Amino acid sequence: MNAKLESGVTTRPVTRQTFDEVLVPTYAPAAMVPVRAAGLDVWDQDGKHYLDFTSGIAVSSLGHCNPVLVDAMTRQINTLWHLGNGYTNEPVLRLASALTEATFADRAFFCNSGAEANEAALKLARKYAHTKFGSHKSRIVSCYSSFHGRTLFTVSVGGQSKYTEGFEPLPPEINHINYNDIESARAAIKDDVAAVIVEPIQGEGGVIPGDVAFLKALRELCDQTGALLVFDEVQSGVGRTGALYDYMNVGVTPDILTSAKALGNGYPIGAMLTTEEIAQHFNVGSHGTTYGGNPLATTVALNVVEQINQPAFLARVREASAKVFANLEKLAADYPQLFAKPRGKGLLIGLPMADGTKGKAKDYTKVAEKLGLMLLIAGPDVVRLAPALIVSDEQIAEADRIMRAAADEFAAA
Ligand SMILES: *Cc1c(COP(=O)(O)O)cnc(C)c1O
Repeated sequence: MNAKLESGVTTRPVTRQTFDEVLVPTYAPAAMVPVRAAGLDVWDQDGKHYLDFTSGIAVSSLGHCNPVLVDAMTRQINTLWHLGNGYTNEPVLRLASALTEATFADRAFFCNSGAEANEAALKLARKYAHTKFGSHKSRIVSCYSSFHGRTLFTVSVGGQSKYTEGFEPLPPEINHINYNDIESARAAIKDDVAAVIVEPIQGEGGVIPGDVAFLKALRELCDQTGALLVFDEVQSGVGRTGALYDYMNVGVTPDILTSAKALGNGYPIGAMLTTEEIAQHFNVGSHGTTYGGNPLATTVALNVVEQINQPAFLARVREASAKVFANLEKLAADYPQLFAKPRGKGLLIGLPMADGTKGKAKDYTKVAEKLGLMLLIAGPDVVRLAPALIVSDEQIAEADRIMRAAADEFAAA
């Protein structure tokens, strides 16, 4: 007899407390449990309303339960879910066509997350280097404080040792350089380097935009040494910075680009985009994943890309960005004891804590959440804002009002 079923484990009420009892404790979620959402509005178990300036970590860029996406997904759910990679399908063909038409890339590979997209990129770069130059060309260069995912390979490539401690032995031949430091890049990128991977704007590392001169130098060093330049646009991509991908703002074209997060608006999908020549170094059987490119994921992503990759939509992202920045600059000026100058690009914005409040970003966001505004942090010292790209002027004003009230309360505590 199944004692768990007997006791009605699946029907008894669940609360935040349940998390601490039955989930592997890899997260420390907020005290409230969201149950319903639409656009930028979220409601918790008690019916309390929140304005969401997180987009689920830069994911739900078209808002929660976006009607166009609900419609497209509902149709696809009633049509075809999954067949496996022994068969192709129409949505994946359309999505790959749309992404290759819209970017430098000629070819796409689909998977289910950002980490997997980077894993594919790094494996492809190794294969390319080994085939073209020989097995000595294996080294991977990445930046300190970067974030590239949580598989053992991508977490080792990421530049935050707190995420690799305890998981040794780590894959070898990975070096880290200082972000935005051209000299450090020049010293590390030699003939044995297969790939240089970089976020054009570091998200998890504190919302730090890459200098154009640094990213251009990486491009030149890769060209000189035959290394492939990989842009990790998992967080910066799909309209977040006011262009479809941030490489378009920067004017530096990578050899491989990875995308995930906002690509599925909350439905898991990742993509690796690359050129014809490089793509040919993966062949049948080289790499794969069961769900990659399945019709549900690619249907939602196709509709996401179609909505976001419109000049008027992207222009509005830049307009909304200017409004949020103006508010935050004023907030930082009015509360210099709490905040430093905001930084970032588009609607990926970091508000650093001032020297006297370092380490307290999370405490501030907890106050804001209590007052009805959901915010992110990017490390202990930076409040991060990543509202849906469809954020209205009224919602921008409301967020500003709550951030000021939260600043007052936080300062008084
Ligand atoms: C979130 C993120 C990843 C990892 O994506 P997952 O979907 O969590 O695997 C990789 N790179 C960057 C820049 C990210 O922000």
